[in-house]
Formats: sequence, structure tokens, C-alpha cells
Amino acid sequence: MLLRHTPLEITERTALTINPAKTCQPIGAMYAALGIHGCLPHSHGSQGCCAYHRSTLTRHYKEPISASTSSFTEGASVFGGQANMLQAINNIFTVYEPEVIAIHTTCLSETIGDDLPQIKKKAIAEGSIPKGKYVISASTPSFVGSHVTGFSNMVTAMAMMAEPTGKKNGKVNIIPGWVEPSDMEEIKRMTGLIGVKTILFPDTSGVLNGPLSGEYKMFPAGGTTVAELQSCGDSMGTLALGEWCSADAARELDSKFKVPCSVLDMPFGLMATDRFVDALRTIAGVSIPEEIVTERGQLVDMISDMHQYLYGKKVALVGDPDQLIAMTEFLVSMDMKPIHVVTGTPGKKFEKRIKELTKDMGYEVNVRAKGDMFLLHQWIKNEPVDLIIGNTYCKYIAKDEDIPYVRWGFPILDRQGHQYFPTVGYKGGIRLLEKILGVLLDRKDRDDPDEKFELVL
Ligand code: SF4
Repeated sequence: MLLRHTPLEITERTALTINPAKTCQPIGAMYAALGIHGCLPHSHGSQGCCAYHRSTLTRHYKEPISASTSSFTEGASVFGGQANMLQAINNIFTVYEPEVIAIHTTCLSETIGDDLPQIKKKAIAEGSIPKGKYVISASTPSFVGSHVTGFSNMVTAMAMMAEPTGKKNGKVNIIPGWVEPSDMEEIKRMTGLIGVKTILFPDTSGVLNGPLSGEYKMFPAGGTTVAELQSCGDSMGTLALGEWCSADAARELDSKFKVPCSVLDMPFGLMATDRFVDALRTIAGVSIPEEIVTERGQLVDMISDMHQYLYGKKVALVGDPDQLIAMTEFLVSMDMKPIHVVTGTPGKKFEKRIKELTKDMGYEVNVRAKGDMFLLHQWIKNEPVDLIIGNTYCKYIAKDEDIPYVRWGFPILDRQGHQYFPTVGYKGGIRLLEKILGVLLDRKDRDDPDEKFELVL
């Protein structure tokens, strides 16, 4: 038993996190920045922070993650990192020639109080930013929020690259939130089928799920281009997928450049995808194409075929707020029972939303924002579940308690496939359902006595 010291009795903790259900802000900022074509993320802090952020992303995406660092030593830690940052901007544009440097802060530079916009002004005055190249920045102190906050802050900085011309471009901005590169590809496929012209940002497809070609490219082919980001101020509107990941950027575009925005849930599962498709249909003023109708029908067919194995199954969930809200709705729509739901990201709104989604289920859900996986384990010990859905760190609980488990979310450090197979949209719903059914039916096959062991299920 790896977690044998987790006690059954729950004590309220305010000043101690055990087995966090989140990671630090710059990881989110770095992931978002990789969704800009030709962008080098830059970590303004010590080398250790940058190494940790890069290695976490590398382990999840199974791709080498390029990022630079201001390499703080004792001097910069005491007197501030301006000199390091100015030197770094000069070196990066000279040696690596990115289109954009996307700088995020760390706990150290935030504690010192380094002012990135002021340092950028100084770099411009010194002529260190070549013509046609860009430096954007986000403040990402890890002592507040989570990786989701850092992602959102960097996406907002990307949105502020908009340079409206006053002439509409006939496109819709889609801010997909922290989803896999495969999910971003799927969103583009769906919008293409429906016939909506879009600017998707960030877009890590083609960056973090590229092919092994034998040829190293410092900046892969994918990513939202600078020209697209500049044009997003001329778009007809913005669809922000997820309140925590995407809404801030969309609202900034709305208030600064008068690009109206709608905030939707991430399109995981049947109903959230329905709302996403309906929003696209309304914007484009078109009927839903037959291909999308068929995909929806296939998902509904699979749910109804397999409902008997899903009905009443108790589920524990851990992950990020936007994903968990959509997943809870999906599970409830299939008559499953999400009874324990934990995110490490703060936000009382999250708890309220999960309670609303489960209010007709006939039980009181255990839900916690700013919670941890130690608490989740205690809840599971007190009320066992049939299924756990969450990131790789759930494997310890799943092993100790012998519970079927689906890896979904961030990070997934010990399996492959998430970069290539989407879980958004109707096709993604089929993939999610296949994974859920796979572990539930494996458990049934393992546990059934010989006389009940069936060939056909
Ligand atoms: S010091 Fe802060 S920014 Fe650096 S790795 Fe730790 S939590 Fe993240």
C-alpha cells in the first residue's frame, strides 16, 4: 500500500496541502505560449523553475519543450532581474530568431517585484527587439492560483496582440482553453465542417503532436500566427471555451476592442458539445451538416447501447475546473454518479456549478476547489467509488483501493495517446466513453464468477 498512511478520519486543513491537485502557474503560461507559431517561451526566474516546467510538459506531451530562462543567480535574486532579462532578449533574438518571445514570471521574480512591461520598454528603447518581432508578457506568481491561472494570463497577453484595423475579417475567435493538441485539431475540423472561419488561439496542434520527420525544427509548423493574433481584434465575436482558462482573454477583447464574447463550457460530452455546435451554427447562420449530425447520433447510440453498464456507477473526479464541469455534466447525462469532485484551482464558483449539475441526483456531492488528492483519497475511503477519472497521480489511489481508473487531464506522465486522440466534440465523447467502458467492463470480467463470465456483453 503506497498511501497506507492516509487516514479515514477527515480533519479540516487550511494551511497544509498534501498531494496537490494542481501545478504551478508558469507551466500553464509556457503551454499557452507554445501555441503561437514561432514563439519561444521565456521563464523570468531561476534555471530550476524553468527546468521543472519544461520537464513536466515534455513528460506529458512526449516532445522536447524549448524555453529560455533569465537564469537568476544570487545577484539577480537580491537586486532584481532586469539586467538578465535585457541580455536574454538580445541573445534570444540573435541566436534563435523567434517571431515572439513570451515571458512569464516565477515566484522569485514576482517576490522581488520585477516590472516586465517596464523592462520591455527599456528593451525597445535599447533597440533589442528587431522590427517585426514581438515580446509579450504575463505575470504568473505561483503562490496564487494554479497552472490554469497561468494559462489564462498568457492567453490574455496573446489577445492583447490584437491590432484592429476597423474592417471586420468575417472570422470568429475561438479560445479553446487548456485542451490537448488533438482537441484543438478536432475543434478546427468541426468548425471547418460547419463552415465557420475561425482564429483559434492558442493552437498547439502541429507543435506538440508533430511527426518524427528526421529533421529538427526549432519552431514547428503549427501554432497561431502573429498575423492571426493581430487580426483577432477585427473578428465578429469570440467563443471562449471555459470560464477559468479562456474567459478573461475574451472579456479583454470585448472591453478593449469591442469584439463581443460568449463564454461556453468546454465541449466535452454530449450536451456541452451540443451548445458549442449550436453557437457555431448561430454565428455562421447555417444548418448543421449531416456529418456532424451522424457523429452526434453515434455518440447517443453508444450511450444507449451501453447504459446498463454506466447506470448508477459512482465516480471520483480530479482535475481542472473547466474540464471537470463538462465531465460532471457528461457523467450525469449518462446516469452515472460523480460523488467526489476535487480541483486544486481556487474558485467557489466551481463548487457552486458542480452542486447545480448534480442537484437532481438524489445525493449531496463532495466537491472542493483548492482541494488536494489526499482529501480525495479520504473521501474515497469513506465512500468507495466504481471509477476514478483524473491525471496520472490518481494511479496511487487507484492501485491502493483497487478501483478502475481512466487517465484524463493534465499531466499524464505514464501513458500515450492524449496528443493524438481528441476527447472534445461528439467523436471525442465516443473516445471518452470507450475508455470509461473499457475499464468498467475489464473489472466486470475480472470479478465475475465463472458461471457469470460472459463472452458477449
Ligand atoms: S518556485 Fe514557483 S515558479 Fe518556480 S517551480 Fe516552484 S512554484 Fe513554480
